[in-house]
Amino acid sequence: MLTDVLVLNFTYEAINVTSFQRAVKMIFSGKAEIVHNRDRVIAATTREMRMPSIIRLLYYIRRPMQRVALTKKNVLLRDDYTCQYCGTHGEKLMTVDHIVPKSRGGPSTWENLACACMQCNNRKNNRTPHEANMALARKPRQPKYIPWIQVKRNTLPDEWGKFLFLYNVSIEERIEA
Ligand SMILES: [Zn+2]
Repeated sequence: MLTDVLVLNFTYEAINVTSFQRAVKMIFSGKAEIVHNRDRVIAATTREMRMPSIIRLLYYIRRPMQRVALTKKNVLLRDDYTCQYCGTHGEKLMTVDHIVPKSRGGPSTWENLACACMQCNNRKNNRTPHEANMALARKPRQPKYIPWIQVKRNTLPDEWGKFLFLYNVSIEERIEA
């Protein structure tokens, strides 16, 4: 979203994405400073300020490794709504395929789930990729802590790139390198 704000730790690592309302509160309460502004001006209570895009905490927080929830949506996001069998891209038609089918004992895990278009999912049916002769574009993995997984690539502001890079995760990949 255009109003999302990237939150950096004191050490400049990206730790979260928050709303601009919360970001402004943190700035006014002295907990954070602005690292990058947007052009847009917002009317705050007493003075005008530009909409923050990136803020940095003025204290260090230890953050526990957060796990990315295993949901259908997050699997699709991890795979960027791209069918892992044929490379088709699209948000509406995508399904989550059990690579080793459920009926064959395949678990519902990050490693056994992949984004697949309806056609590929139907074609593969109750077979393994090997049996169906359908290769996966890449090995599915559990994503590391990635706060921006909820943010679609085309909405990520350019200026966020260098801080996300600190994680050694490119915006294009957004999953474990
Ligand atoms: Zn496909």
